[in-house]
Amino acid sequence: MLNGKVAVITGAGRGIGRAIALQFAEYGAKVVINYRSSIGQVEELLTTIKNAGGEAIAIQADISREEEAKKLIEEAKKHFGRLDVLVNNAGITKDNLLMRMSEDDFNSVMDINLKGTFLCTKHAATIMLKQRSGKIINISSVVGLTGNMGQANYAASKAGVIGMTKAVARELACRGITVNAVAPGFIETDMTDQLSEKVKEATIASIPLKRYGVASEVANVVSFLASEAANYITGQVLQVDGGLVM
Ligand code: NAP
Repeated sequence: MLNGKVAVITGAGRGIGRAIALQFAEYGAKVVINYRSSIGQVEELLTTIKNAGGEAIAIQADISREEEAKKLIEEAKKHFGRLDVLVNNAGITKDNLLMRMSEDDFNSVMDINLKGTFLCTKHAATIMLKQRSGKIINISSVVGLTGNMGQANYAASKAGVIGMTKAVARELACRGITVNAVAPGFIETDMTDQLSEKVKEATIASIPLKRYGVASEVANVVSFLASEAANYITGQVLQVDGGLVM
């Protein structure tokens, strides 16, 4: 499905990014695993992929800093000779009610979730424009569509990712590059582990499929968008949310 494609996945040491990296490698892609701090998990992931016959390297970079995002993309290209797929997955939450949200908490979420996506996209597009092909997949969230109490920063960043996806999809379409977003609902990862049992029960009650999703269920959709089966899809937002938002 992704045979020989070179793919950069940001924040791929754990959670949804890890599941995407594993699935891409299984489908034959050459995978560049970006991480910021989770080196132990990344080493384990590299071993898992290599033992299964896959190809992967890891590159440390804080994608919210331009020089590091640039270095990530350039090193990926240098190692594998091209770049076919970029998955902007790295993201954080710093939840608080509006009146208690600090400027720092607002800025750090915007810097990683929105600016990081912009920086990686910009540097990847430099390569993809010359190749006249490429697929960019941005991980947004259903919260970017609906808003959520206590997440003014996160909802703004994820709505921003959707707007940027559509703008960049329009800019790059004429060079054969597609840009799409995936909007997960509640997925079992470290991010949702932070929620209290009370909040988890309440959210499950509101999900038509009555459960949280698992990371591989998001990876399934990302793999599809990265594949040639999705060649005629661009500027779209695909929800993976058990029916939460419809
Ligand atoms: P997670 O388990 O908390 O993992 C977050 C990942 O982002 C980690 O790999 C982390 O790397 C990386 N990261 C954070 N800041 C970074 C930076 N500055 N530079 C590079 N990497 C950075 O989160 P997740 O649940 O897998 O979420 C993945 C994506 O899905 C995020 O964009 C999130 O907003 C989105 N999402 C998740 C859910 C959900 O329910 N889980 C729902 C909707 C959307 P290190 O560990 O190396 O720091």
